[in-house]
Amino acid sequence: MLDYHMHVENYYPFGRTPDTRPEGTDPMETMRLFAASAAARGVEEIVITEHVYHFTQAKEIVDRPWSDEKCFYDMDEYLDLLQSARREGLPIKTGIEMDYIEGREPVIERIVQDYPWDFVLGSVHWIGDWGFDLASMADEWDRRSVDEVYRDYFRLLGQAVQTGCFDSMSHPDLIKVMGHMAEGDVTDLYEGFAEQVSGQAGLCVEISSAGLRKPVGRLYPERPLLEACARRGISITTASDAHVVEDIGRDFDQVRDLAGSCGYREAMSFDHRRATPVPIE
Ligand SMILES: [Zn+2]
Ligand SMILES: [Zn+2]
Repeated sequence: MLDYHMHVENYYPFGRTPDTRPEGTDPMETMRLFAASAAARGVEEIVITEHVYHFTQAKEIVDRPWSDEKCFYDMDEYLDLLQSARREGLPIKTGIEMDYIEGREPVIERIVQDYPWDFVLGSVHWIGDWGFDLASMADEWDRRSVDEVYRDYFRLLGQAVQTGCFDSMSHPDLIKVMGHMAEGDVTDLYEGFAEQVSGQAGLCVEISSAGLRKPVGRLYPERPLLEACARRGISITTASDAHVVEDIGRDFDQVRDLAGSCGYREAMSFDHRRATPVPIE
C-alpha cells in the first residue's frame, strides 16, 4: 500500500508554532523515523504533504488570524529535506496539502507550478472565515443549517476541482468530520462532485482512514460518493493523513476493503506529478 497524505508539523525541524519547534535532532532522523514507521505497517512509499499555511511563501492563501502564528516554514528548506531523504534511498516523495480558498486561485497556481512537487493534494477546510474542522470553531455548527453547510462545502470543493491544480482531492467529504450528517439527500452533491472530477483528466480522489480517528468515526469518503467516482473511472490515492508517525498506514485494512468493494484494484503513485497505477495489496 501507499500512504499519500501525512504531516511532519509535530517533528523536528518543524513544529506547530515557533515555540513548539523542537531542538537538537538531525532533520534527516525525522525522515528515517517516517520511513521506518511506514515500513513497519507494510507501507511501501509515502508522500509528506504538509499544510500549505505553514509556509511563508504561501502566506496569502489561507491568511487568517488562526494561521498567523503557524506560518514560519521555508518551502525550499522543506523540499530540500524531502529530496535529500529520497537521495538517501528512503521511499519518501515531495508533496503539499493545498488549501483551496475562494479568490486565492492565482497564488495557489503559482505555488503548485513554481516548486518541484511529486504530488499535490487539494483540500477544502474553510467555508469563508470558518474552519469547520477546527475544534476551536465548532460552535459555528450550532448557528448553521447542516444541509446548507454541505451545499456550501461541495460548491467550494467543485471550485477547487475546477482549478485543475491538484493530483488528488483529499478527504472528499471532510464536512462530516464532527459527526454532522446531512438530513437531506446528498446524492446530487456526490454525483456532481464525481462529474466535475471526471472532467479533469487524471485527477484522483483520496480514500482516507483519518475520519476513523475523528468524532465522525468513519472513513472518507462515504461509499456512495466513492461509487459515483468508480462508475466514472476516476482513480484513487490512499491515505492516513497521519500527524504522528504511529498513524502512518493506520486502518489500511479498512481502506483496502472499501476500495475493493467499489471495484478498485489499484491506487495511483505519483512521481513529478505523473501517475502510475500500483496494485492494492
Ligand atoms: Zn486536510
Ligand atoms: Zn492532512
